[in-house]
Amino acid sequence: MDHYSYTQISNYLQCPLKYKYRYVDGWREREDKANLVFGRVFQKAIEAHFLAVEAVEFFSFQWSSVKSAPLEYGNGDSWEKMLEQGQDLLRRFRADQRVRIEDPRRDLQVKLHRPFGANGRDFLGYIDALGSVDEIPCVIEWKTSTLSYPEASPRVLELDPQLVCYSWMTRIQNVCLVNFIRKKQPEIQYLHARIRKRQWKAFDRTLGTLVSDMEARSFYPRSGIRYPNNQCPNCPYLGLCLHQKRLVEANLSRTEEQRVG
Ligand code: SF4
Repeated sequence: MDHYSYTQISNYLQCPLKYKYRYVDGWREREDKANLVFGRVFQKAIEAHFLAVEAVEFFSFQWSSVKSAPLEYGNGDSWEKMLEQGQDLLRRFRADQRVRIEDPRRDLQVKLHRPFGANGRDFLGYIDALGSVDEIPCVIEWKTSTLSYPEASPRVLELDPQLVCYSWMTRIQNVCLVNFIRKKQPEIQYLHARIRKRQWKAFDRTLGTLVSDMEARSFYPRSGIRYPNNQCPNCPYLGLCLHQKRLVEANLSRTEEQRVG
């Protein structure tokens, strides 16, 4: 494989068998979870905001287009509730005015390549945005969630693997996670962190080790520790591990073209 992405690495880190199911065997999680669709539509609305499009209207229109789709809503969620939450978050974001993007056509969804290791391996990533938050130039990641990050220990964010990866790719040490929280009173967190240069080196080494294992086809189950800290019950690939056809059909579909890891 020529390119590696953060999603691949994160899948392999979670469970090498999960990585195999997805990237080698071509299984895909069904894309009918309402929260995932919401996240995609909402991110487009944030981008629209910077492109001088009325974001609340844009979001409402796009979200209406999935109203009759057979989406699976999580506990307590509904199409109407998520519409209101999305609109409220976008209004708050506009009022806050804490994020600046100098050139939205250039600085949103920025495609970057970074070579790593030997053998001409290439890491490919899309950075949500490059800009400034609270006047600090930084790499920006948008996230929609139902949970707040614990602000009591803000430095934990420096260990977030996705932020470390984005910082490593861009060679920009300041990162900011903008967390749009869907809860009774929607809230936005602007969470700053500074990634150390030594973390870039460690990430580079980790990447080399992981990719060597992937290329050696070392695909073993890594379920985590015993329940409740075990990821298997929430894993979309559980049906494959248990050889349960009904679970496989409920959660997965298989792409025609299989990818080789
Ligand atoms: S069910 Fe558990 S062991 Fe199987 S792929 Fe998922 S995380 Fe890995």
